[in-house]
Amino acid sequence: MSDIEIAQKASMKPIIELAKAKFNIPPEHLDPYGHYKAKLSLEYVDSLSHQNKEGKLILVTAISPTPAGEGKTTTTVGLGDALNRIGKKTIICLREPSLGPCFGLKGGAAGGGYAQVVPMEDINLHFTGDFHAIGVAHNLLAAMIDNHIHHGNALNIDSRRIKWKRVLDMNDRALRKITIGQGGIGNGFLREDGFDIVVASEVMAILCLATNRADLKERLGRIIIGYKTDKITPVYASDLKAQGAMAAVLKDAIKPNLVQTLENNIAIVHGGPFANIAHGCNSVTATKTALKLADYAVTEAGFGADLGAEKFLNIKCRSSKLKPSAVVLVATVRALKYHGGIETDHLNQENLEALEIGFSNIQRHIHNITKNYNLPVVVSINHFTHDTDAETSLLKKKCEELGVKCVISSHWAKGGAGAEELAREIIEIVDNKEASFDYLYDDDIPLWNKIEVIATKIYGAKEIVASSKVHEEIDKLQNKYGKLPICMAKTQMSFSTDPTLKGAPSNHIIEISDVKLENGAGFIVVIAGNMMTMPGLPKVPTAEKIDIDDDGLITGLF
Ligand code: ADP
Ligand code: MG
Repeated sequence: MSDIEIAQKASMKPIIELAKAKFNIPPEHLDPYGHYKAKLSLEYVDSLSHQNKEGKLILVTAISPTPAGEGKTTTTVGLGDALNRIGKKTIICLREPSLGPCFGLKGGAAGGGYAQVVPMEDINLHFTGDFHAIGVAHNLLAAMIDNHIHHGNALNIDSRRIKWKRVLDMNDRALRKITIGQGGIGNGFLREDGFDIVVASEVMAILCLATNRADLKERLGRIIIGYKTDKITPVYASDLKAQGAMAAVLKDAIKPNLVQTLENNIAIVHGGPFANIAHGCNSVTATKTALKLADYAVTEAGFGADLGAEKFLNIKCRSSKLKPSAVVLVATVRALKYHGGIETDHLNQENLEALEIGFSNIQRHIHNITKNYNLPVVVSINHFTHDTDAETSLLKKKCEELGVKCVISSHWAKGGAGAEELAREIIEIVDNKEASFDYLYDDDIPLWNKIEVIATKIYGAKEIVASSKVHEEIDKLQNKYGKLPICMAKTQMSFSTDPTLKGAPSNHIIEISDVKLENGAGFIVVIAGNMMTMPGLPKVPTAEKIDIDDDGLITGLF
């Protein structure tokens, strides 16, 4: 059965009743969106924050992604259900899927098999309208910029150096570069512009890091949209008096969304920043709420551990003071064989040699998590039908040689029951050992050194290099913004900047091509290689297979 067929057979409980039964959430603090989705009031979120109780935070991350698929979301859901099965009160926290990739290659992003969050079609298509609101807030600021210039440009905005583009939640390559203001003097000034996908918007990153409405508004006001004609003075969203209206548009988007898993456990699905030019995790509000309500919260970070977990730990945890207790590192036999040099067509055949070679990838990630962050890790092998016993035994043995537990999990096929061993291993760690989590770098070291630490310690690079122009940019940022963390934007497919270098490349050189201050989000994006902020659709997009019948039944969302 496909993911969507399984999801459609789910027996969902009304979310208001479920929230009351599981966590005694008062119904008046839930805004229902239909029967199975609801938003939690910020008053309630705030009231929880004054309680002393704090659950344990478990991060799910993965090896470097491959076309063979790894299954972080599926594992997050499966582990959450398994923890609940063994009597541990747990809430999972996920990102909201973006519509663009949903119509492109990826399909849905609400888990898979018997480890999913539901209602799957709603979560994948519009959900509670958060991304729409984020797009509107972003585009409102864009409209106010061009309007300001049209009406005399009192702020002296240099229209050639406006950094704030437009956004749309669609994969539409034709909009990457456009010309606006065509058609004469009534239509503003002609200039080059472009569209990014909504998940790449700084407003998305801001919403996910903001701790309350006041913080949200403050951060929105701090956004730098470009520079004045003197070339050095930044223009802030607050100079255009945009932050109030933007925050108003986001009045509901800021509230966490409650849904359920196939096994009727509570999931909070909220926010979804890109994992390349942004930090790639769900909202701080959602994670903190889960930790107050439940004894355990399981959450996922985008891409592999070199990018997703690095940003989760150094950006999200730093800004919110969250402290994870343990990390689940997801891998598959197939993906490790791919890292060992096997092409996608041959991944279903047993190949112990390739697995040994590909193991270098997971080994590097294990080392990074345990040595660089001082966090305990459990490897979870997401079991696929064609994995052989010889292959899974080899992986267990190799992990154990490194002193790391490795469990084979079959939640995709069996739901929470398939991840009980993983759940028990995690509990064994988080209930018995206080993790002494360290950041990778201190706030106080220079920006250049922060980038260097990430590149050498996490990526295994020899050094970082940059043009004199980039050096200058970094020097300029150092004075005023030197304490901010780094948000690395590089290919997720490799520890290097070359997506074809699999396994664990060492001694490579990371070339920094650009840096970008995201002042509202509170990080500096460092770009190594070409970063796509508006994806395109593939030759045969998933959209061709998605359909709805006369009775409203949706098919083809995977
Ligand atoms: P990630 O979060 O790492 O991107 P997902 O959990 O979303 O990965 O899984 C990606 C896709 O792979 C989903 O469509 C899911 O159904 C599928 N998948 C995950 N685990 C398995 C498995 N064990 N067997 C077959 N398909 C799987
Ligand atoms: Mg995912």
